[in-house]
Amino acid sequence: MRLSRYFLPTMKDTPAEAQIVSHRLMLRAGMVRQASAGIYSWLPMGFRVLQKIEQIVREEQDRMGGQEMLMPTIQSADLWRQSGRYDAYGPEMLRITDRHEREMLYGPTNEELITNIFQAEARSYRDLPKQLYHIQWKFRDEVRPRFGVMRGREFLMKDAYSFDLNYDGAKESYNKYFVCYLRTFARLGLKAIPMEADTGPIGGNLSHEFIILADTGESAVWCHKDFEDADAANLTVNYDDSKAVQSVVDHFTSLYARTDEKHDQAMFESQVPADKRIERRGIEVGHIFYFGTKYSDPFGAVVAAPDGGEVPVHMGSYGIGVSRLVGAIIEASHDDAGIIWPECVAPYKVGLVNLRVNDDTCVVACDQAYAKLQDAGVEVLYDDRDVRPGAKFADMDLIGLPWQLVIGPRGLEKGVVELKSRATGEKQEMSLESALAKLS
Ligand code: ATP
Ligand code: MG
Ligand code: MG
Ligand code: MG
Repeated sequence: MRLSRYFLPTMKDTPAEAQIVSHRLMLRAGMVRQASAGIYSWLPMGFRVLQKIEQIVREEQDRMGGQEMLMPTIQSADLWRQSGRYDAYGPEMLRITDRHEREMLYGPTNEELITNIFQAEARSYRDLPKQLYHIQWKFRDEVRPRFGVMRGREFLMKDAYSFDLNYDGAKESYNKYFVCYLRTFARLGLKAIPMEADTGPIGGNLSHEFIILADTGESAVWCHKDFEDADAANLTVNYDDSKAVQSVVDHFTSLYARTDEKHDQAMFESQVPADKRIERRGIEVGHIFYFGTKYSDPFGAVVAAPDGGEVPVHMGSYGIGVSRLVGAIIEASHDDAGIIWPECVAPYKVGLVNLRVNDDTCVVACDQAYAKLQDAGVEVLYDDRDVRPGAKFADMDLIGLPWQLVIGPRGLEKGVVELKSRATGEKQEMSLESALAKLS
């Protein structure tokens, strides 16, 4: 993409309404614009990142055995009356009446709808287990939408639902998601710590929130310092081997890690040595939850059991805040000059900077580099605008592409271009051929 044609409204100044760095940088880097409180339009640059995150989330769900589907954003109030949540959900639910005076709502989550779909089709234990998911916009009328896309009212969530014959089966599904989440967040370049979370009236210990430590996070969390060194990046496990999956879960749950509702100070102090205690704030990027027959009971989602008779299916639900992750990744990866995208979610891999657009040699070299990168399938944003080099460098640092390939007349005289890594700031002079080889 040529920057001269791209819709990238960057801003030099800090927008007054943005309180945290990710929100400021998303506005300044032309990624999003607010449509109304907590509701955002995603401009081309922001949308590319959102889609890349979505794709990584999708690949890891599929790898685990999840099946993607798509449920609507608008749901019927009757479904929610059936579970008893229509009144219980309160003012966070956006309620809508259609022209026939039917009560509808903009879905804040999908347990009711998926259980309703499942109960109509499932017959026998042979139909189990199943893991279904979708990636769809949700609406929650948050009291205080803030921090940009981190706490929006309309936001993109991956929500998955598991169906099993009994508790043991449901726990195996839960464990798979646990490992799947570790892999997903590690692939996104994030250190997400699984923390024991409240299960509400259902009880048990099968609820974890995946938390990224950050001062701007809205949850208070306590955990063992060794989580900082735990690495899930190279975690490979055969999801069909339930013992292997369980042992990964055991490993990642062996140390203290709890969110505020579950925190027990005395237990924390007895289990974690003083120099290993982390007491901080964190961002909830994912949440997994086993809730038994809470929805299958009221919806009559039963199957024939192997020994005859009918049993309600055991369910769990599993969310990832896809749009929140865009902000969370920026919170974890930026500097004073702007965003530093991990390569896996970067909107483009390379920013090609032409330092002198009215110099023929320079233009020829840049056009050639642009064509070669595109031929090699490298995503490249080509700054061919007629503006000062200083402004180009500032914009490149702000939008945070992993590599900057800088081509100017002085270098070309010596037969070199400059390749800069955004993350390390390291600059190297080399021939255009070597630079292209390095980037392809
Ligand atoms: P929070 O505690 O932040 O309000 P939640 O516990 O209400 O989140 P869940 O119902 O567990 O959220 O939803 C699953 C995931 O969706 C969360 O882990 C989070 O990443 C994301 N999410 C929830 N609310 C929002 C929101 N208002 N804006 C953006 N993402 C959200
Ligand atoms: Mg909430
Ligand atoms: Mg929460
Ligand atoms: Mg939650």
